Amino acid sequence: MGPGHVIFIGAGPGAADLITLRGARALSRASVVLFDALTDPALREFAPAAEWVDVGKRGFSASTGQDRINVLLVQYASTGAIVARLKGGDPSVFGRLEEEQQALAEAGITSEVIPGVTSALAAAAASSRPLTRRGDGRSVALTTAMTQERELHAGRRADTEVFYMAGRQLAMLARRLAEAGWPPDTAVCVVSRAGWPDQVVSDHDVGTLPTACLLHTGRPAVVTVGVGARPVLQRACPAAVRTGDEPEPSEGDPAAAFTRP
Ligand code: SAH
Repeated sequence: MGPGHVIFIGAGPGAADLITLRGARALSRASVVLFDALTDPALREFAPAAEWVDVGKRGFSASTGQDRINVLLVQYASTGAIVARLKGGDPSVFGRLEEEQQALAEAGITSEVIPGVTSALAAAAASSRPLTRRGDGRSVALTTAMTQERELHAGRRADTEVFYMAGRQLAMLARRLAEAGWPPDTAVCVVSRAGWPDQVVSDHDVGTLPTACLLHTGRPAVVTVGVGARPVLQRACPAAVRTGDEPEPSEGDPAAAFTRP
């Protein structure tokens, strides 16, 4: 068998209906799907006859090592199969895409990338706030708070900064943000499980961010800091929380409205 072909597909932030049409079509052509932990099992409907291989890694828990994933990709593609590599969000954002592309290139296997909705964008939609704003919100940085050494870093490189992989250490992130020069009253919006029916959106500022950990424990979350975190409708709510289970609040209620995706 000649070498197959690998299609990296962005699954979106979770819920199956946030995959792109192009991604869903490519998935239906695959005979093998290597998928990540944060992708919706409902995506199997697009490729029911394919072999689905769980290569999920999640936080610091037991995981399929990256080297093993690279080997599996090459092995499956070498059988001549069309292999879908389904990644959460967008494959090019904190998705170890480069390592997998390199492994394939070294084995002489072709690959292509289909984009997906990255968590920062799903969170912006979940909280109904534009990431860029005319005038003072001219730049956005996507940042992983975690270094390779598992240390938490935060800088101030853009008008709006979206932190991935910080959900377990929000108190430490708050401290690092203050050290990086973000004023204590800077808007911070935390969204966990963005795009899912049980997404949670909470509003804070740099000073009150540590309280957010109670709301988002054990859930994938992104933390948006700065101009793009400011609610469009200003309500006086230092720690407003919205979940899918709450009724629409009345005017003046400290908890702002939540809309299901
Ligand atoms: N490629 C992915 C990011 C993978 S890194 C993307 O483009 O979104 C994993 C991190 O993504 C998690 O630690 C969390 O910060 C974020 N994340 C993934 N799914 C999420 C979701 N549904 N809601 C909020 N954050 C999410």
